[in-house]
Amino acid sequence: MAELPEVHTISNDLNNLVKDYTIDDVKVLSNYRILPDKDTFIKQVKGKPITQVTRVAKNIIIELGDNLNIGLHLAMTGQILVRNGNDKQPNWTHIILLLRSNTDTQTIYYTDMRMFGKITLMDKEQLQVLKDKYGPEPIDPNADPADFYERIRSKRTSIKNAILNQAVISGLGNIYATDALFLARIHPETPTQKMSSDMANRLFESAKNILLEGIEHRGSTLADKMYVDIYGKEGTQQNYFRVYGKQDCPNCATKLEFKKVGGRGTYFCPKCQNLSVQEQLF
Ligand SMILES: [Zn+2]
Repeated sequence: MAELPEVHTISNDLNNLVKDYTIDDVKVLSNYRILPDKDTFIKQVKGKPITQVTRVAKNIIIELGDNLNIGLHLAMTGQILVRNGNDKQPNWTHIILLLRSNTDTQTIYYTDMRMFGKITLMDKEQLQVLKDKYGPEPIDPNADPADFYERIRSKRTSIKNAILNQAVISGLGNIYATDALFLARIHPETPTQKMSSDMANRLFESAKNILLEGIEHRGSTLADKMYVDIYGKEGTQQNYFRVYGKQDCPNCATKLEFKKVGGRGTYFCPKCQNLSVQEQLF
């Protein structure tokens, strides 16, 4: 499942590859969720130039100029794959974009096994509405840790739950949230009301570091291989996980605990992330 570092890698690579290409043709092969609808989508994007590929949180935004954008949300199993013209069509392909720049062509496949993702045509106002749904990103140099502290304190829940809420802080999925809490030595079930500003600062910094590390390693690919980059290559952040999916604490070798927090599988070290001692640790 693509989290921020994975979506960042995809949108960056896509921008480098197909910026300034024109969408020559569009094929929709299924009844995939397209908003407002399939026919409008095909009619509107055909013949348009790709001015830029960017990202809003975990949405990939293909900017077409002319106040038109394609938003792609990969959800659980969506993938964007570039293949040469002669290559076999990937499994679960729903949409094919045929792109051209002078004599160069590229074929982009949008695939999604479980079909929880969606594609949305958006004008400038709709794009702004999307942006407004998300809290600040820890990797944004303008993001303010004090604002983060206020946002988590405004929620009455566990800290793990709060940081998975994309309106509180944008970009942390289950994997990176789990490792960020470990790096900050904060128990995932710490009530937000018990978070001190020091703890919040530590967590904000850890979240930033783990996301930047994930980007550097081009995302994480788990055993299900559901995330690969646009060339079909796996990320390597899974080789650097601290506690996610692990047995023992990398700090103190204590056996890690695993429990569901807010319905999401959470690993933590009962010693390093101990609720009662964490205040004294720093
Ligand atoms: Zn430990």
